[in-house]
Amino acid sequence: MGHLLSKSSFIKGVQCEKQLFLYKYHYDWMDQISESQQAVFNRGTDVGILAQKLFPGGTAVADVPKRSDEAVVKTKELIKSGRKVIYEAAFLYEGILVISDIIVKVGNEWQIYEVKSSTSISETYVLDAAIQYYVVVNSGIRVKDISIIYINNKYIRTGDLNINSLFNIESVKALVEDKQSFIQKETGRLKKILAQNEIPNISIGVQCSDPYQCSFKGYCWKNIPEYSVFDIANLKIEKKFELYNKGYVRLEDIPEDWQLSDSQRLQVNCHINGTTKINKESILTFLETINYPIYFMDFETFMTAVPMFDNSRPYQQIPFQYSLHYLKSKVSELEHYEFLAEAIGDPRKAFISRLLHDTERGGTILVYNKSFEVSRLNEIARDFPEFSEAIIERISRVADLMLPFQKKYFYTPEMRGSYSIKYVLPALVPKMNYDELKIKEGGTASIAFESLYYETDFFKIKEIRENLTAYCKMDTLAMTEVFKKLEEKVK
Ligand code: SF4
Repeated sequence: MGHLLSKSSFIKGVQCEKQLFLYKYHYDWMDQISESQQAVFNRGTDVGILAQKLFPGGTAVADVPKRSDEAVVKTKELIKSGRKVIYEAAFLYEGILVISDIIVKVGNEWQIYEVKSSTSISETYVLDAAIQYYVVVNSGIRVKDISIIYINNKYIRTGDLNINSLFNIESVKALVEDKQSFIQKETGRLKKILAQNEIPNISIGVQCSDPYQCSFKGYCWKNIPEYSVFDIANLKIEKKFELYNKGYVRLEDIPEDWQLSDSQRLQVNCHINGTTKINKESILTFLETINYPIYFMDFETFMTAVPMFDNSRPYQQIPFQYSLHYLKSKVSELEHYEFLAEAIGDPRKAFISRLLHDTERGGTILVYNKSFEVSRLNEIARDFPEFSEAIIERISRVADLMLPFQKKYFYTPEMRGSYSIKYVLPALVPKMNYDELKIKEGGTASIAFESLYYETDFFKIKEIRENLTAYCKMDTLAMTEVFKKLEEKVK
């Protein structure tokens, strides 16, 4: 039987017809899936399976056949045999295949449920439901309603997971019905695209990242230089394409009178002229707010769609690790303190108890991007009020090392418009970098820690913990070096 379009290829085609064509005929040109993208996919699958419990006792079509045409036949058989709840039901109409996460029979009609691991309904989800509705209805099934099941971000876990509170269910039938003529036209158009012999001639554009990052950017964007107008900080994507479409691709190409903000112009000019900007007075004023002893502090967190612990919510950032470098005075030796939770139960109490103990000696607590650490501390104070008084005291001592770079008191061309420590560090301290580390960024650290909850191999656990410790320690060590550089600049 086979099929031309599926729900996901249709969504790709609506975003960009070239993406659909490449996906269908040049699948191997696709970019490699990153570890964090894979984690998002896995999360979607896990949430989908959990949501089936809202309608227990169903039969999963996908368990039986591997091929889509067999799945369609199996679905028909299950419907005919009088099943009331079917998971992963497959339908085919005019070469378009859709798989519905859950279908439930009510009287002689069916309710369709599409499960999403997000906390709100997007326009794309409605489109996704609309093509399902189109195919299912045209396959001769009477559809009473079609709804999206998504995560309720207000849910706070207490004891066993309450899946009825964890999920929101919202009908999108009216929205979906409004889109039926669009679906019909669009499926016709996309089928014609797939019948062509040539790759559609589409230039890169705003569609490449809207609504999703296209997975063929490696192919289509290969001629864009490594540093280009697309790297100008805080410039709207439409404005970037305005420059690109006029032929201004490198920063050097941008006309001098092109309208940019002061900090964008600084980024462009510093790059072209190879100049560094240092505002000594402002750096000095910033440094005067920092009092020794100084704690250089950094947290690592992880989050799950389904809350794992009591008193936690979907997608809440759960701190599991910190690193602290401590400098008693300008001439003291650097001391190091750290904590990495055991992946058994909720790490937050052990985390905060140790942190409060390690930071009780007074002095400035310096972090990089204050809002992140302070938000996590406030959340712990909310969820564990017994620690709130001490937490509020620690928050009152927090200062942000990011500020001089965010405000461009100090800017070098190597920072490429960014004030992330990952750019600031190599610009200021080129000998220090994350290259040798197994874990190089926070997203990977989160995935690594979460994996410890399921890992049983002792050696694997040991290795992951060592990698996590090395990464977090590097973050605060980097901050001490950056701080030293600032002090040197105003000497
Ligand atoms: S990278 Fe852009 S132009 Fe290329 S296929 Fe994807 S969306 Fe289309």
